[in-house]
Amino acid sequence: MSPKGAGRITLAWANRSIRTKGMLVMAIPLAALLTLGSLYFLWQRRADEANDLVAHTLEVHNQIDDVRLIYLEAALGMRGYVAASPEFLVPYREAVDALPSALARLDALIQVDSVRDRLNEAESAGDRLLGVLERMRLSYQPGMPSTDSQRSLLLDSREALALVREKLDATRAEEDRLLAERRASADRAEWLASLTIAISAPFGLLMGLVAVLLFTRGLVRRVRWNEENARKLSEGLPLLASTPARDEIGQMATALEGAAELLAERQATLAESEARYRALIRNFPNGAVALFDHELRFTLMEGKALATIGLSKETFEGKTLREALGDVAPDTVRTAEPLFRAALRGESITSERPFGDRTFLVQYVPVESESGDVIAGMMVALDITDRKRAEEEVRHTQSFLDSIVENIPNMVFVKSVEDLRFVRFNKAGEELLGFARAELIGRNDYDFFPKDEADFFTAKDREVLEGKRLVDIPEEPVDTKSKGTRFLHTKKIPILDEEGKPAYLLGISEDITERKLADEQLRHARDEAERANLAKDEFLSRMSHELRTPLKAVLGFGQILEMDDLTEEQHDSVRQILSGGRHLLGLIDEVLDITRIATGRLPLSPEAVLVAEALNEAADLIQPLAAGRGIRVRVEDANGLHVLADRQRLKQVLLNLLSNGVKYNREGGEVAITWERSPPDKLRIRIADTGVGIPGEGMKRLFAPFDRLGAETGSVEGTGLGLALSKGLVEAMGGAIEAESEPGSGTVFTVELRLAESPLQRYERQRELGQGAEGGKVGARTVLCIEDNLSNLKLIERIFEGRPQVRLLSAMQASLGLELARQHRPDLILLDLHLPDIPGEDVLRRLREDPATRGVPVVMISADATQGQIKRLLAAGADGYVTKPLDVKRFLETVDTVWQRGASGDAKVSSGSEPTTT
Ligand code: ADP
Repeated sequence: MSPKGAGRITLAWANRSIRTKGMLVMAIPLAALLTLGSLYFLWQRRADEANDLVAHTLEVHNQIDDVRLIYLEAALGMRGYVAASPEFLVPYREAVDALPSALARLDALIQVDSVRDRLNEAESAGDRLLGVLERMRLSYQPGMPSTDSQRSLLLDSREALALVREKLDATRAEEDRLLAERRASADRAEWLASLTIAISAPFGLLMGLVAVLLFTRGLVRRVRWNEENARKLSEGLPLLASTPARDEIGQMATALEGAAELLAERQATLAESEARYRALIRNFPNGAVALFDHELRFTLMEGKALATIGLSKETFEGKTLREALGDVAPDTVRTAEPLFRAALRGESITSERPFGDRTFLVQYVPVESESGDVIAGMMVALDITDRKRAEEEVRHTQSFLDSIVENIPNMVFVKSVEDLRFVRFNKAGEELLGFARAELIGRNDYDFFPKDEADFFTAKDREVLEGKRLVDIPEEPVDTKSKGTRFLHTKKIPILDEEGKPAYLLGISEDITERKLADEQLRHARDEAERANLAKDEFLSRMSHELRTPLKAVLGFGQILEMDDLTEEQHDSVRQILSGGRHLLGLIDEVLDITRIATGRLPLSPEAVLVAEALNEAADLIQPLAAGRGIRVRVEDANGLHVLADRQRLKQVLLNLLSNGVKYNREGGEVAITWERSPPDKLRIRIADTGVGIPGEGMKRLFAPFDRLGAETGSVEGTGLGLALSKGLVEAMGGAIEAESEPGSGTVFTVELRLAESPLQRYERQRELGQGAEGGKVGARTVLCIEDNLSNLKLIERIFEGRPQVRLLSAMQASLGLELARQHRPDLILLDLHLPDIPGEDVLRRLREDPATRGVPVVMISADATQGQIKRLLAAGADGYVTKPLDVKRFLETVDTVWQRGASGDAKVSSGSEPTTT
């Protein structure tokens, strides 16, 4: 066997548990013993079996002999019968009778087929013999001489008997052969048993010996090995290597090795943790940690602060407090020693100690063992120099802030949240309320103010604290001790803590008593001034009105005078009178308008105005003036856009700006009217000239009335009212006006107005929505529309397109309208209130005065929807009143109602009837 194989066996043996090994050691000799016993038993049984078989064979022999004898007796009996006497038939018969049972016994004894075969052959031979004998008995007569056949039978019987004998002998021989065979096999078994015993007895003995040897030697040596390793482990030495095995000793060895590894690991961890803990203490920031024993000797001293005070751990470790610091800091030693001792007595003490220029917070604590004995003292020192400095700074800042709060000229107070008692007050507060701080702190409002005042303050405080937000009390009266009632403007602010909950309430109150009085005086003065201004406007308005009447007379008579036959000189004088008068009338009209705007009494009738129309009309009017100075007027096409404006007033503004553009332009210059949309819904009309421009200073006064910016010294005529009026008008129409100018190169005025939907568009839209009214159940009619707004005129034309029976006449001027009315006597007159030549109200009056037109129903059209206006016109003879922008349905309803009334006979408009209005 190879050494490797041997090793494997050894290992396999070693791996067995001690119990298995013990059992094996017991089992081997036991097995040998058992084998011997069994073999002995086997041998015994074999011997017994052989004996039994021999006995059996002998019995078979006997039985065969019995059977042979019976056959012999039968044959002898027969021969005797034949040869001698009939008495011999008795033994014959007895033999024949005994034969079956003898054969049956023999047959029962025979166990082997080969023997039985022989026996069967013998029986067949016996049967033949018995047959021959029976024939002999039958053929022989006692005392009769024997015949040949009888003799032949006798011979046959001899022959048959011989065969029987032979067959029985063969049976016996077969049985003998079997016996010999059995004996041989018994002998072989016996021999094999002896051989097995001979071999196994010494082998068993040998195995027992080997097992005992293995058991004892292997175990003992390995136990010693473990013992040695255990000793090494206890001494911390490296262990001897052992063969690995899984039995108890092997496990013990493995456990020892594990323990050794664990120990090594623990030692490494311990070393690491010690290094860490040392490093930790060494890096103890801003301080130092020390351990000292009962002799006040430092066993450890580490920490960053050592370096900051110019010392090192070597100064301390291994030395007593006195040895370490006796020379450097004797005072420290003196004061620290009792504290070291106290710590060693089990007390914990914290104290603040200076060292050099640093301050330390030092803690002396006992270090106790698990049993509670003080085994050492520990000192932990924390450098708090910076913190102290910061605290000092905070204190300083605090006192700085305090002094600010203290000197704020407003009353500053702080109340606690719980009971709203004052916790702080500044000087201004003391002075205002007339109480010393000591009287105020710890009290609340009810201690100083009447109940209703205190209730108000408290309610406000609660509001601040509950809402967690600043509350501004613009004015609150406060009854003070020495200054009477003062008015305060107070702001109350919640001061929240870190969790956002109110901790205090801060109040800052400004004494506004003086300012309030001043404000009141100011308001009073302003009211006075406004009243005076209104009176002035009123005066101006009246004056202008009063001046207009005589002036118109002057102008009228002047014009009549002009037509007379006058000398050239007289003509010149009259022209002067007329020119001066017209100038004055313009001036008066403008003043009147300005004062009306200022007093809000300027009647305006805003409607959708076609921008292109307004621009073109204004440009046409200015054309002659421009042409006189060789100035080109350029108008950009406004594409059917509409703005919301009073038509006449918009034209007035445009005319004014255009005339300025021409007046203050250079010879041969240009005035350009352009426009742009200003989203979402504005239109900007720009009037740019190439004139002298306006200097920056002048721009500020541009829209001031009567300010001509120095033009009064020049040759250009003017009143200085145009721009002021334009601005007033544009703003009254909801728009805006502004100017930009580049002195020397020109000025741009921009008028911004709201875009409006064109009346026609609006009508179409309403029609699409199914709101338009189509068809009427009246006969052929003529309608006269006196309206200067082209857009409205077109709309009315469009509306009546749906009624082909209606013939529409139109006039854009009142004078033409009156003429047409007289000529055609229409079935209805639609009359605009604002017409360029005669006011609509006058036109109505004239229509009613003229017998030719008196009966014609008139429906007024105006953007002015004020009830007073409507009532006045209905009273003046109008049959209906519709407002712009036209609501087509209601417009037609009004027209139809007016006609129906006419048909039913009560059409005659009288003061008693209630005309339709929309
Ligand atoms: P008026 O033209 O009657 O003097 P306005 O109120 O229209 O009064 O104008 C005031 C002044 O503003 C004018 O006197 C003139 O000095 C100046 N001004 C107005 N429009 C222009 C312009 N387009 N270019 C230069 N200066 C202008």
